[in-house]
Amino acid sequence: MDTSMLIGSGFAAGTETPETVLNPKTEATIVDLPEASVEQVDAAVSAADRAFPAWSRTTPAERSALLLKLADAIERDAEAFATLEALNCGKPRIRVLQDEIPGVVDCFRFFAGAVRNMHGTVAGEYLAGHTSMIRRDPIGVVASIAPWNYPLMMAAWKLGPALAGGNTVVIKPSEQTPLTLLKLARAIADIFPEGVVNVVVGRGETVGNALIHHPKVAMVSLTGDVATGKKVLQAASKTVKRTHLELGGKAPVIVFDDADLEAVVEGVKVFGYYNAGQDCTAACRIYAGAGIYDNLVADLSSAVQGLKFNQANDDENDIGPLISARQRSRVASFVERAAEQKHIAIATGGHEGAGKGFFYEPTVVAGALQSDEIVRREVFGPVVSVTRFEAVDDAVAWANDSDYGLASSVWTRDVAKGMATAARLQYGCTWVNTHFMLVSEMPHGGLKSSGYGKDLSMYALEDYTVVRHVMVKIA
Ligand code: NAD
Repeated sequence: MDTSMLIGSGFAAGTETPETVLNPKTEATIVDLPEASVEQVDAAVSAADRAFPAWSRTTPAERSALLLKLADAIERDAEAFATLEALNCGKPRIRVLQDEIPGVVDCFRFFAGAVRNMHGTVAGEYLAGHTSMIRRDPIGVVASIAPWNYPLMMAAWKLGPALAGGNTVVIKPSEQTPLTLLKLARAIADIFPEGVVNVVVGRGETVGNALIHHPKVAMVSLTGDVATGKKVLQAASKTVKRTHLELGGKAPVIVFDDADLEAVVEGVKVFGYYNAGQDCTAACRIYAGAGIYDNLVADLSSAVQGLKFNQANDDENDIGPLISARQRSRVASFVERAAEQKHIAIATGGHEGAGKGFFYEPTVVAGALQSDEIVRREVFGPVVSVTRFEAVDDAVAWANDSDYGLASSVWTRDVAKGMATAARLQYGCTWVNTHFMLVSEMPHGGLKSSGYGKDLSMYALEDYTVVRHVMVKIA
């Protein structure tokens, strides 16, 4: 197992307090990993800073070739990456292999192609005798900080556009899930010039904090909690760093009476509980029309009971455990507080899994009202609430009545109604008759407290580059 950090061209173990990395399925220790010291963080940022002048002047074709090599290396080693990610996150290995690794590979391939198609938008004489042009140039050293729910995929979403754009990077995985990124660091070191990518490990309050305050870091990219996003903004204000924030979500799912019930049930069963609901776009907050509400609660509850977890044969598992004991007790306390409300029924689930592992039963919370905590706060677990609505305007108003603004969906057989409703939702993404689907060509990112950075697509490449105006006197 690769446990060393990549700093410049060298691999080194952290020198500070070890963080215990657990297998969430067995609660056993995988490894005790010492975190980076402030000096090691500084060495990583300095290596990135030294690498920037040469890397930022490489051609898009040169950067593209290396990103394609990295994609190939991950694809070649897909089985091992999937095994390691499954070990560290507790996810079903087959899901990582079939869903996540292809997404990771495609992300690097997309940005390898995208950067060769990134153009300035203008060349012309806007002042007589002067030619103006627009350039898109790299920003500098990017500090990338990733969460634990999709460790390798989040690393790809951050590294792809940052490197394609000509930046150098110091990336920190979550202290709970560092293993696949440490493995990736070996492939990176074989492919990229010294210092272009550096990987440091450790906790947010120490290593993360040192990164976001580092004077040589020009941009901070965070996927994580809203509270962490606010800390990044405070740190950024001191030296006016650019920020790219992908924060939480609480995705509303509006189900009209005319929706295809079977498709909704199948959709929410998958998209509400995938990755044990530890997904910022999880279909977790249903608003169901009065005419479909009862059948939806009944059918969804029985469908969700069929979700398999903690089976000895991992290939049979639909979902894994939560990432930690702390996360599981957080989820459990949300459901306990909801169950105390007289108007709420726990239609299925509502308990911790038996035995070892941080499992929590897939849960449906029926009869929830807009004012309930379970409807308003991000649970980040396998818990879906269902709220009844009578009027479309209520459903739209409640869906929008949220601090978050990342993802949403509308389910109806009436395409016009679906489009009209989608147009009224204040979310970075709205799906109609599906949920959760991502493609590398389209942006992923939020509004409001969900943050404002776009991942994937040309928009991410824009976020990781800066627009510059060059004017030449020609007469
Ligand atoms: P978190 O904010 O606790 O941690 C995310 C990362 O930030 C970790 O690497 C952590 O070490 C680091 N960090 C924590 N405190 C820090 C500090 N003071 N300074 C610098 N770095 C710090 O979040 P998490 O618990 O790992 O992830 C779950 C959260 O991430 C959820 O809220 C979820 O919605 C969000 N998320 C959002 C998206 C998205 O695309 N919008 C995707 C995945 C997860």
